[in-house]
Amino acid sequence: MNRRLVEVENLKKYYPVTAGLLSRHVADVRAVDGVSFNIMEKETLGLVGESGCGKSSLGRAILRLEEPTAGRVLYKGNDITTWGRRQLKELRKEAQMIFQDPQSSLDPKMTIGDSIGEVLLIHGIGTEQERLEKVTELLQRVGLEPEHTMRYPHELSGGQKQRVGIARALVVNPKLVVADEPVSALDVSVQAQILNLIMDLQHEFGLAYLFITHDLAVIGHVSDRIAVMYLGQIIELANRKQLFSHPLHPYTEALLSAVSVPDPHQKRKRTSLPGEVPSPVEPPPGCRFHTRCPKVMEICRQESPVLRPRTGGRLVSCHLYG
Ligand code: SF4
Repeated sequence: MNRRLVEVENLKKYYPVTAGLLSRHVADVRAVDGVSFNIMEKETLGLVGESGCGKSSLGRAILRLEEPTAGRVLYKGNDITTWGRRQLKELRKEAQMIFQDPQSSLDPKMTIGDSIGEVLLIHGIGTEQERLEKVTELLQRVGLEPEHTMRYPHELSGGQKQRVGIARALVVNPKLVVADEPVSALDVSVQAQILNLIMDLQHEFGLAYLFITHDLAVIGHVSDRIAVMYLGQIIELANRKQLFSHPLHPYTEALLSAVSVPDPHQKRKRTSLPGEVPSPVEPPPGCRFHTRCPKVMEICRQESPVLRPRTGGRLVSCHLYG
């Protein structure tokens, strides 16, 4: 039985909005606003939502690549939000990130071999020869050739650079990887190969993923459970089958209605959402989704629904479900 690897408790990440010559703090962008969930060992938790809903900020706050404003993140039962620099260095061995744009995590002046080996060097792992062997072995595992150790990032295609990004994340044998839109910048023809590689490596390395994407088709392909995010909050969390066959939250229903289903008997009625996503600086009162919800009721304008358990271990935040 897999245990809880990560426990996120009421996590918040606000970005200050300043104005005037003195840069007075006038408001906050509430990118992540009171989020709680768990990630189990060796599972893939998909995190999906429209662009700007706060999912990348959440992923970065969990790894403390950005400082959370409030709340706790427990890793193997330890509260990492209180950890200092030395302990965080240890965390980087256990928890890594795959970025949307692999170019941004690669130094254009370093060879691929040095870029990956640098991670081992930072953590004081192995001799120079051992590091080279490990890098070469891992490059082959992610589908590249030993000769790529001598190449520079500009000599590689987008797909090859993402393979390097994956190797860089896995070289220290982490247990948790936050993958932030890892295929959305790639050609469609390459996306499936990278997704399959990410899934194969999960079994081989015993990894847990927090897999962030705006693409429901992708998330349906890779996830065990899926959390749906809207305007800084999780509004539904269920296993993949529950979510795709019977979404509860009206926002999840609307998102899924836009995904093509191969089986014509399962065809869904397409729901188009009116209006724009409201500003995270001033989210609507009550249910944050009420300005766009086709099922809005009076109570929704006044009271915020709470993320509550439903049958089958799923969670939903909506007044339709008491
Ligand atoms: Fe719609 Fe109300 Fe449910 Fe919000 S709480 S999703 S407005 S029905």
